[in-house]
Amino acid sequence: MPRREIRGSRAIVTGASSGIGKALALELARQGADLVVTARREDRLGKLADEIAALKVRVEAVPGDITEAAVRQAVVDAARTRLGGLDILVNNAGVGAMGRFEDADPNRLRRIMEVNFFALVEMTRLALPGLKQGRTPMVVNVSSILGHRGVPHSSEYCASKFAVQGFSESLRAELAAYPIDVLVVSPGTTQTEFFDRVIERTSQPRWPEHGAVTPEYVARAVVRAMRRGKHEVIPFFWGKVLCRLNAWAPGLVDWVMARYA
Ligand code: NDP
Repeated sequence: MPRREIRGSRAIVTGASSGIGKALALELARQGADLVVTARREDRLGKLADEIAALKVRVEAVPGDITEAAVRQAVVDAARTRLGGLDILVNNAGVGAMGRFEDADPNRLRRIMEVNFFALVEMTRLALPGLKQGRTPMVVNVSSILGHRGVPHSSEYCASKFAVQGFSESLRAELAAYPIDVLVVSPGTTQTEFFDRVIERTSQPRWPEHGAVTPEYVARAVVRAMRRGKHEVIPFFWGKVLCRLNAWAPGLVDWVMARYA
């Protein structure tokens, strides 16, 4: 018995112009959700809105930088005025960087935390009053396998995703009484533009190739988890293996990671 009916629900998806956010917005629309989509690239957002509208659901595109308070406010306002309320907030927008910590400019950490953590937290803060009035409301925070296990050459990114994990766990407990569900999504390697669009790349480890999944695969797994009211979804086999191994033998994983540093 599903805990949540997607049809007729009203959702915000951030970072919807490409990759996982775009696939997730389309999957939610296919299942009958009305949507507010946001990201900086207006042209892509416009095309996505056309695709979503063709699925006969309501859609509003709000272009802008999610680190700006006025943009976040416009997104939440759009859900209220254009969709009549809010049931699902998907905090998906994210950026990465590659390189050793000691070589990095402090701005790299600031920028990553602004997008991946502070914007996510502030979107959640703004959306909560609307969600409290919503139908089986939920917050979906897109973290990463790297929010479970730190790896070399991605220290700032890992820190931002660990922050998302901790925030989400606390929030889940605080919101249980309403009840508002909190789902954490921890993708592994996914075929998106993410790696081509890192904000800085000074070095990178040569990881073994382990069959990246498509964003559509991730989106289907996420929507399934949303319907079932799950707390966590890891849509990547090798990611699950890494998490298990790290819980069982963290020293061994430390040793392996040091080989890639
Ligand atoms: P993409 O680069 O394809 O998508 C990132 C999205 O975030 C884009 O829509 C981008 O839109 C948006 N975005 C980035 N910065 C901002 C900003 N300042 N303001 C508004 N929107 C912004 O990558 P993915 O789809 O892979 O990434 C989605 C999420 O998945 C991220 O949180 C990422 O950390 C996470 N993830 C990805 C993995 C992967 O292997 N791909 C693995 C684990 C987690 P625009 O540039 O138009 O603003």
